[in-house]
Amino acid sequence: MSPNRRVYDKSPEGETQEFNSTVSRVPIRTVVDYTRRGGNVWIGNSTSPADFPSVELTVFNFQLVEVYDGAMNSDSHFPATRLRRLRYHPAVRSLVREVRLDPSKLILPLFVRTGSGIRQPISSMPGHAQLSIDLLKAEVREAADLGLGGVILFGIPDEKDEFGSNSYCADGIIQQGVRAAKAAAPDLLVVTDVCFCEYTNHGHCGVVNEKTGRPDVDNDATLELLAKQVVSHAQAGADMVAPSGMMDGMIGAIRGALDAEGYQHLPIMSYAAKYSSAFYGPFREAAESTPQFGDRRAYQMDFAAAAEQAIREVELDLAEGADIIMVKPALAYLDIIRLVAERFPGVPLAAYNVSGEFSMVKAAAEKGWIDEQAVALESLAAITRAGASILLTYWAKDVARWLG
Ligand SMILES: [Zn+2]
Repeated sequence: MSPNRRVYDKSPEGETQEFNSTVSRVPIRTVVDYTRRGGNVWIGNSTSPADFPSVELTVFNFQLVEVYDGAMNSDSHFPATRLRRLRYHPAVRSLVREVRLDPSKLILPLFVRTGSGIRQPISSMPGHAQLSIDLLKAEVREAADLGLGGVILFGIPDEKDEFGSNSYCADGIIQQGVRAAKAAAPDLLVVTDVCFCEYTNHGHCGVVNEKTGRPDVDNDATLELLAKQVVSHAQAGADMVAPSGMMDGMIGAIRGALDAEGYQHLPIMSYAAKYSSAFYGPFREAAESTPQFGDRRAYQMDFAAAAEQAIREVELDLAEGADIIMVKPALAYLDIIRLVAERFPGVPLAAYNVSGEFSMVKAAAEKGWIDEQAVALESLAAITRAGASILLTYWAKDVARWLG
C-alpha cells in the first residue's frame, strides 16, 4: 500500500470533495460525478490509477474512495510503463506482433459443377463461381502456386434425388472434381465437404422422414449413407474429409467406414460446432442447397444455446476420432472459438469465415463504404487471435496476394 494513500470512507451522500491528488480506485457501486481539471480519470472498480492533478468529486452512495497524493502510487506504472513505446515505430510493431496470416493456413472453398468451359458466377459472392471440371483444374493450380493450405470442394450435381445418391456415386460430381484437382495439383491438399444438402431434392443434410412426428433428417439412416459417401471420396483421392451435417455419431461412422476400407491414414476435419446461421445465405446460392421446406435447426446448433454445448459437440467428435475440429461461422462466434481453443489445447482448430461474412464486406466495399482488403485482413486476424489456426475463407487467394 502506498504511504501516500488516504481513504475517505462513509462520507455523506452528495458531499463534494476537492482532491488535489490522484484518485486511484472507486468501488463499482459508487456513483461519482466529477469535474476533470487535467489528466485522466478512471472511474469504476478499476485497479488502474487515475492520474490528474486536481479533481472535484461529488460522491453519491459513497462507500470508499481511495485517494493517492501525487501522480505516482503503488499501483501506478506510468510513466515507467508506456505501451505506446511498442507502437511508435513500424519495425517495433512488427516485432511484437503475434497474429500473422499465412497462406499455408488458408483453405479455399470451391464449387464444382458439370460441363466444360463453364464459370457460372455466384452473384452474391463477387469473384466466386461454380466451375466446371476443366476450369477447376486451373483454379487449383493457382491455389497451389499461391501457397494455399488447400481447397475444400463442394459438388453441384445435375440430378438431385431423395437420398442424394450423386454424392456417393463413383462418377459423381465431387468424385470427378477430386480426381481432376489431384491430377492438376498433386501436392495441394484437397478436402471434400461431406454432406447431402447439395445432392438431395429436398435440400436437407440427410435422409428425411417423419419418424419423429414431423419432417426431419433421420440421423442413423443418414450415417449409413455418410459412410458410403466418405468412402467414395477417399476412393476418388481426397486427402481429407470434412463432414458438415451435424449428425450425432457422424465422426464415428465415418472413421469406421474409412478404416474398414483401408483409409486409416485419412484425417477427418469435423464441422464440430456448426451453428444454424443466417450468415450462410449467399452459400446457398453458390451450392444450390437451400432447404425446400423447413430449416436446419433440428440438427445445426442454436446460436442462442449455452456456449458449453459447443464443448460437448467437440468432445464427442474428438472421442469418435476427429483430427481437426471446426467452428462455423467465425466472426459472430469468436467466443466459441476462444472457448474451444482454451479447452482443447493442442487440437488443431479451424474456423469457417462463411459466405455472409464475405459478402457483407464485398457489398459494403462496392458501395465505397469500407476498404475490403483492410476489413478482410482485420477479420481474419481476429479469428486467428481468438484461437483458430486454420481458416476456411473465400479471401484465401486474395490474402496470399495481399501478403505477397
Ligand atoms: Zn449439409
